[in-house]
Amino acid sequence: MDSSHSFIDSVSLSCAQGDTPCKFQQELELLRKEIDSLKEQVRTDALTGLYNYRFFSDALPLEMERARRSFQPLSLIVLDIDHFKMFNDRWGHELGNQALVHIAKLIGLTFRKLDLACRFGGEEFVILLPNTDLRQASQVAERLRETIASTPLPYGQESISITASIGVDEFRGNHSDSPEGFLERVDAWLYQAKHAGRNCVRGPQIESTETISTVTLEEKDALFGVFGDTADQ
Ligand code: GH3
Ligand code: MG
Ligand code: MG
Repeated sequence: MDSSHSFIDSVSLSCAQGDTPCKFQQELELLRKEIDSLKEQVRTDALTGLYNYRFFSDALPLEMERARRSFQPLSLIVLDIDHFKMFNDRWGHELGNQALVHIAKLIGLTFRKLDLACRFGGEEFVILLPNTDLRQASQVAERLRETIASTPLPYGQESISITASIGVDEFRGNHSDSPEGFLERVDAWLYQAKHAGRNCVRGPQIESTETISTVTLEEKDALFGVFGDTADQ
């Protein structure tokens, strides 16, 4: 993702003064390390270690453009923890923070390296899935929902159940969506998931290839009419 290079990145590390140890060279090396670390911090959520909102805002239009050019689908998942205010009220803010880290870990375990998992803000997460269509994204969203629901947060001798609601949709290059429009579309599916009672995934209905290839009884009758009763059933 990161194609930006600073001036310092492009400076050769060999010292023009010769091979003897050079204090500027050491300083340059230190500065490079600090820049790398700052770059990482700028795009990372400090609590969960996932990418942050800032990173996501930059990545979404870039990935949409990439999808448009490569004619590959791009899917987006938006996840919101259910009744998290109640969780905080009951267990306290600190354990709430641990719950966010717990969910982030489960997200990290569920997705591929190429997928971009971000903390959007508060108790909301977004995952961008390049080269992934709606069917695949819906399957992985359901797997994540199930993993979260069946992996309670350990707390001393107890364990606390957490559930999340998920919206999912895909972008294809021929859609005229803007990044904001795409996000709103997926957010609307998340709203549907909340409305449907939470702890579920919502997205557009997936056209089943089985349905398309399934032959109805009437069609079968018509086919047998053509090929006779000996046709394989
Ligand atoms: P819903 O199922 O409709 O999403 O209900 P909800 O309670 O999760 O939603 P609501 O927006 O009412 O509350 C979100 C809560 O998330 C309120 C806020 O205290 C909590 N929250 C947001 N960010 C953080 C955080 O960084 N740490 C903790 N512990 N809590 C947070
Ligand atoms: Mg929320
Ligand atoms: Mg919530």
